[in-house]
Amino acid sequence: MMKHWIVESDVDINKSYPQIVDSSFFLQQNEVVAFPTETVYGLGANASSDEAVEKIFKAKGRPSDNPLIVHIAKREQLIELVEEIPKNAELLMEAYWPGPLTIIFKRKKGVLSEKVTAGLETVAVRMPDHPVALAIISAAGLPIAAPSANRSGKPSPTTAQHVIDDLEGRIAGVVDGGETGVGVESTVVDCSGETPVILRPGGVTKEQLEEVVGDVKVDAALQTGEGAPKSPGMKYTHYAPNAPVYLVEGTPHDIQKLIDEKKREGLKVGVLTTAEGKELYDAALVLACGERKNLSSVAHMLYDTLRAFNSSDVDIILSEMFPLEGVGLAIMNRLQKAAGHRVINVENK
Ligand code: AMP
Ligand code: MG
Repeated sequence: MMKHWIVESDVDINKSYPQIVDSSFFLQQNEVVAFPTETVYGLGANASSDEAVEKIFKAKGRPSDNPLIVHIAKREQLIELVEEIPKNAELLMEAYWPGPLTIIFKRKKGVLSEKVTAGLETVAVRMPDHPVALAIISAAGLPIAAPSANRSGKPSPTTAQHVIDDLEGRIAGVVDGGETGVGVESTVVDCSGETPVILRPGGVTKEQLEEVVGDVKVDAALQTGEGAPKSPGMKYTHYAPNAPVYLVEGTPHDIQKLIDEKKREGLKVGVLTTAEGKELYDAALVLACGERKNLSSVAHMLYDTLRAFNSSDVDIILSEMFPLEGVGLAIMNRLQKAAGHRVINVENK
């Protein structure tokens, strides 16, 4: 039977809670436990144990060449895991840790399970900004490998219920600290060269990184879906609801024409829009994902909205597009992946 520990989301890291003690004990026993972070729910396991890390890959059905992010609660833990801390990494950690920023370091040999790093010379590390995550990692006293707590390929979980839907019977338990805040995963950045490179856009924006370290590049393969991305996980289809998703470029009026065309083909059409567009479409299911004027609210709702299409019988999902600025870069990256990079331009149709 899967454990379901319910905790308040603002636990005090200096106090002791039976749910935290219990769940962190499972981690020490090399079991896998899901818990909330400020981005999405993570599926945690002892990053030093082959046995524990293997359980993550098995529960998720994740390809073994896709490395995991190691989560820590204190800066002291970092020194034990990495060979060196480049200057830009130092600056970014000062500014954005704890927070939705993962940094790639040269790893120390023999500390972590090789399965965590999938044979790479580097390791991805982050310190999550969620009291429950920090309390569990501290109590376990271990570096914790934690990918998103979903079955591989599905949208990432932003509630404990999403975790249960995907992983019931496959993991030891879930710590339920309510809905997660940011809604998209952490930004992954490589600071080993002169100019930092974003390998995966996420909760900390390119603009925010640039405020601290100047110029930042984005891994070219991410934009086009072509070539090999430097973050191995980025090559996999991801975040996909059951029905095929298409990104649609055009005005709501043009998009409605496409909806009508699909209807005539006998298809039930789902539309992903925002509060601003909710009343503009006539389709089988129109879901508002946050507010366009506040892209953080779109990020927050994105995976829940993608999952919500699965409880309907739509045949096709048409999604509006978002500007490639701020957290819009991460939103579009996830939508592009959910859509397998299929974009329809209705303006030129
Ligand atoms: P997830 O665990 O689902 O949040 O995905 C973790 C992401 O971090 C994936 O896209 C991985 O490919 C990426 N990642 C983890 N470790 C490394 C690493 N050492 N170098 C580059 N990317 C990494
Ligand atoms: Mg994931």
